[in-house]
Amino acid sequence: MKEKKVVSFEKKHSKTGEKQPEVEYCSFCKRPNTQVPKMVKGPGVNICSECTLIAVQYLILQDGLMSAEAQKILDLLWGVSRK
Ligand SMILES: [Zn+2]
Repeated sequence: MKEKKVVSFEKKHSKTGEKQPEVEYCSFCKRPNTQVPKMVKGPGVNICSECTLIAVQYLILQDGLMSAEAQKILDLLWGVSRK
């Protein structure tokens, strides 16, 4: 008979109380989250808010959806991210 092995994941949180600011790098522009307004974290990849805007802009342009309205939204978003 095989014995059941119990795997413990408790070691993940090694030192409690010691919070180190996690530095994440944008997978697209390689900037750390300390240099960008916001970082969106995904499984194995990160994207900063500015790269997100570039991606959105690209999609809008690709689909030919650029309109005065879309431009207004982009301007607004870029304005917010450059605060
Ligand atoms: Zn980026």
